[in-house]
Amino acid sequence: MEPQIYDVIIIGAGPSGLSTALHLHKYRPSITSSLLVIDKAAFPRDKLCGGGLTSDAEVLLNDLGLDINELPNTTSENILFRSGDFEFAFSNSNQHTLRIIRRLEFDLWLNKKARQRGITILEEVVVIDIDPTENFVKVFTPTTTFKAKIVVLAEGSNGTLTKKVFPHRKVKKARLIEAISSSKNDRVRSDSVFDFSPIQNGLDGYFWDFPSPANDGQNNCVGVFDANTHHKTPRSLSNYLFSNYPDFSKQIKREEINGHPILLFDPQHRNQAGQILAVGDCAGADPLFGEGISFALGSGHYAALEIVESLKKGDYQLNNYQQRIIESPMGRSLFIRWAISNILFPLRWKICQFFIWKTLNGIVRYLATNHILGWAKKVKSPIEGL
Ligand SMILES: Cc1cc2nc3c(=O)[nH]c(=O)nc-3n(C[C@H](O)[C@H](O)[C@H](O)COP(=O)(O)OP(=O)(O)OC[C@H]3O[C@@H](n4cnc5c(N)ncnc54)[C@H](O)[C@@H]3O)c2cc1C
Repeated sequence: MEPQIYDVIIIGAGPSGLSTALHLHKYRPSITSSLLVIDKAAFPRDKLCGGGLTSDAEVLLNDLGLDINELPNTTSENILFRSGDFEFAFSNSNQHTLRIIRRLEFDLWLNKKARQRGITILEEVVVIDIDPTENFVKVFTPTTTFKAKIVVLAEGSNGTLTKKVFPHRKVKKARLIEAISSSKNDRVRSDSVFDFSPIQNGLDGYFWDFPSPANDGQNNCVGVFDANTHHKTPRSLSNYLFSNYPDFSKQIKREEINGHPILLFDPQHRNQAGQILAVGDCAGADPLFGEGISFALGSGHYAALEIVESLKKGDYQLNNYQQRIIESPMGRSLFIRWAISNILFPLRWKICQFFIWKTLNGIVRYLATNHILGWAKKVKSPIEGL
């Protein structure tokens, strides 16, 4: 018997891969039996991440009929933005500003929700290569070769397949380190801090401090995001954390610090080649904050729309995907974040940072409220009869 040719194979069962699968199921339930998700990991699997969900991520989850309150989480009423001595609080008028979950639980929860809707997920199967032919894409694992009309790359920031499909991309990767402080101390509080003071010391980024859910109360999640785009000073981010924030050495042991890169969004990157498209981190995460979960969920929505329309037409070339993303509220938010990161990070002199944060405070708030956050509310529901 001829092996099945799947309509869609998704490589990676993180938030972007499962969002694509869940949106495909939502927009065209009949596709479910011809949809396969493959992940090399066994779930529950952890992913180094602060677990901060913005309201955009919550809007997208709600639209999928998923209630994040089923998971242990903690919320921050305010986000405190800092630069040097300057600080301002950003809050949502009628709800929390940030919700923090643990990725181990979040990704397992998404996995279970997808399975409950009939989506097949193969775990502990690594995709070693893909090969597009005229009519379908071959997906190679060590034991089986699958075939699909369309393949979605959702393999995260360290994927090797993305490099193969988009060999000419000039990739920029941010460096991040993070540690969870479980010590019960007086720093436990509910606001989340984004401290951009490190820019003045030549770092393209910020230092964060979130509350994080713990089984017996609350932990703190601290870390450093270095977009690594303008200042390429080789330095240890751990040393940076300890020398600039000596308080941490009292709460966090060096060996508890872990690092992971993030592939950054660039408006010039192509994320579609023939019948293959990229979502989530392998398409590029936010270059200003390194926020990736909402964009992983959002790109799953746009990928599903593109795929459903292509399957309907019987043309699997997905040629509108790039334009669809660029013109979307999500694409505009990513573009604005990219533009701001290119202004904010190179201007490392104290006077410039003071001017941006203090004098332009109204503009900073306006951008944060209207363009950086809140894009998911503007995402258009698909047309009837999709
Ligand atoms: C330190 C740190 C802190 C962060 N904090 C935040 C935060 O607070 N808020 C936020 O929004 N974002 C944060 N991010 C970014 C966020 O973690 C990512 O944007 C998000 O995980 C992207 O989801 P994804 O589905 O694209 O990729 P991933 O979550 O990386 O999932 C990719 C999946 O693909 C699988 N895979 C890879 N290769 C293969 C293969 N060849 N075959 C089969 N399976 C494969 C992997 O096993 C994995 O399960 C942080 C990132 C870091 C590094």
